[in-house]
Amino acid sequence: MKTPIKPKELNVSSRISGFDEVVSCYTEKEALAEAERCLQCKNPACIAGCPVEIDIKKFIFQITRKDYRGAYFTIREKNNFPSICGRVCPAEYQCRKACVLTKKGSPFASEKAINIHFLERFIGDWGMKDIVRDVRGSTSGGGRTSNISGGGRTSNNVSKKVAVVGSGPAGLCCAGELARHGIKVVIFETLHAPGGVLRYGIPPFRLQRDVLDFEIDYLKKMGVEIVTNFIVGKIKSLDELFAEGFSAVFLGLGAGAPSFMGIPGENQCNIYSANEFLTRVNLMGAYKFPEYHTPVNIGKKTVVIGGGNTAMDAARVALRLQKLNKMKPDVNVFYRRTENEMPARRPEIGHAKEEGVNFRFLVQPVEFTGDKQGYVEKIKCLQCKLGEPDSSGRRRPVPIKGSEFEEPCDMAIIAVGLRANRILTSVTPSLKVDKWDDITVNSGTMETSIKRVYAGGDIVGGEGTVIEAMGMAKKASKAIIEKLA
Ligand SMILES: Cc1cc2nc3c(=O)[nH]c(=O)nc-3n(C[C@H](O)[C@H](O)[C@H](O)COP(=O)(O)OP(=O)(O)OC[C@H]3O[C@@H](n4cnc5c(N)ncnc54)[C@H](O)[C@@H]3O)c2cc1C
Repeated sequence: MKTPIKPKELNVSSRISGFDEVVSCYTEKEALAEAERCLQCKNPACIAGCPVEIDIKKFIFQITRKDYRGAYFTIREKNNFPSICGRVCPAEYQCRKACVLTKKGSPFASEKAINIHFLERFIGDWGMKDIVRDVRGSTSGGGRTSNISGGGRTSNNVSKKVAVVGSGPAGLCCAGELARHGIKVVIFETLHAPGGVLRYGIPPFRLQRDVLDFEIDYLKKMGVEIVTNFIVGKIKSLDELFAEGFSAVFLGLGAGAPSFMGIPGENQCNIYSANEFLTRVNLMGAYKFPEYHTPVNIGKKTVVIGGGNTAMDAARVALRLQKLNKMKPDVNVFYRRTENEMPARRPEIGHAKEEGVNFRFLVQPVEFTGDKQGYVEKIKCLQCKLGEPDSSGRRRPVPIKGSEFEEPCDMAIIAVGLRANRILTSVTPSLKVDKWDDITVNSGTMETSIKRVYAGGDIVGGEGTVIEAMGMAKKASKAIIEKLA
């Protein structure tokens, strides 16, 4: 068996001096060599491992034949945003974990498993260049565009108009699916720029903004209208949208409200939720203050609490800010369990370590203390040990009595989870929600308790992944198309 091909990565000192993308795209030679490793299994398990069931076997075979265009369309049949998913999909828990080269029963993919996500990214990036060239070169105004549209246009749909609330991966995917069936779509987005977590949460060193901008521009070229700075539930209600002539509404509201630990001293200055911290930096250019208007404080000794992707992103951003401000990097992730239980993607944990983020496992914060002005100075924690597994299947952290210790910290970032925001659901009583305030749907159609109102993504079932959000959006768009036919 040939050795897996790793894409090139930016060296650590260049990485932490800015926000450039860390992992490079495969070169053609690398992609061909990796694709050749695929065993082309008779019954490929990887396809079932993908939440949108891309025909992975087929697109990898097409790469081996240098049929990149074919591979692009094979992926696009199921996944609207291959360049995005190729960068951020947790492949090690999904398609790669199901790859026959991963040992059965492993908690995540083995090193030997085919690097399906890197191949997807190679094809996605190739497609972006090819499409741009075709659209520019086309005298008919975008021959390739109509090809991508998939020919799903049905003329009786043209008069139908659907409102999509939220422009994260769920909203964008739903909009794209509807638009390619000839349905007029208007996306309403609270923030001043579209993309949801892809723009305000995931930093540019993991997902370059030109990739996201390309996909959004592409939707616009397909006729999708995007209205920003528009909060549905405040500016207009669902009833008002229907009254304006929308035939259906898709809610891709995400899970944008941060959770806190509820410990004493948590409301002191320089303690941020990861969401606020990342939004200030990624979306509002805080690190360029005063050139950009939204400042963010930078700690000399920063503690990040949590073990998920959000914690890794926050820690790596905080470290880069220290470096940009010529400070000695000192960022420390505190996590209640061990590295094995961390929900963050393995490559992201690896990158954070390489870049100099320190990790303290089995520690549970119990209090923050601060100075007279109310600025955080110290964090108090208890040492933990692992107990029995909890409902998530992970071993529960059990605090050890009398193990209390203190650490200095002048900035803390809380990344212990996200919840649904209630802006729209609280003013729409007929919209059924569960005990977590997530919207309840019919799992077959994604229709909510209100007729012709559909939902998908993190607002259904809580924090998930980009590709899961897109999977739900696809299901909803199919149901909407059928309903409007
Ligand atoms: C920091 C971070 C890193 C992550 N990293 C990864 C990763 O590497 N890989 C991965 O697969 N997943 C990752 N995730 C999870 C992934 O980003 C989410 O599962 C995904 O974005 C959910 O998509 P969504 O469209 O449901 O919601 P979101 O992306 O949250 O988008 C929802 C959008 O709706 C808007 N909105 C909300 N309410 C209203 C309203 N009333 N009116 C108008 N607009 C509204 C919001 O402003 C937002 O733009 C990460 C999450 C975070 C926070």
